[in-house]
Amino acid sequence: MILSFDLDDTLIPSTKLFRTEKQNILQRILGVEKIRYGTHRLINQLRADGHHIYIYTSSLRSSIAIRFIFWTYGIPIDKVINKQRHDKAMGSYPFSCSKYPPAFEIDIHIDDSPGLLVEAKNYDFCVSIIDPQELDWGNLVVKSVKEKTRRDEKL
Ligand SMILES: [Mg+2]
Repeated sequence: MILSFDLDDTLIPSTKLFRTEKQNILQRILGVEKIRYGTHRLINQLRADGHHIYIYTSSLRSSIAIRFIFWTYGIPIDKVINKQRHDKAMGSYPFSCSKYPPAFEIDIHIDDSPGLLVEAKNYDFCVSIIDPQELDWGNLVVKSVKEKTRRDEKL
């Protein structure tokens, strides 16, 4: 499966605060952004299970900068979709959407924004909304992957 994660307030604290992964000296010196506690374990587990991990963000950070953040934590990212890439892809659709995972063959998108649920319903894609305060968020992601696998098998 291809899974994508939003950045701000999903994996990176932005307007909301949540516990973050420990940073090493180099990350502190370079001012690398903090990422949510449990990200390393979750993403590497999902990758070990054969899933592909994308970052799908409406932010203007460059693809290289985003890959670099995760690389310093020992987390490889398969693909990065930033605002620029999203806008370019949406040019070929007759509607606009804040995020449209099917344009990138993404099976489940993980995000903090409940507004995406409406778009997911209207445009038929799968999102898993994770509250920034949720401590057991990694297990919720794993659960939604399992549920989607089960649903797909029934089709
Ligand atoms: Mg967000």
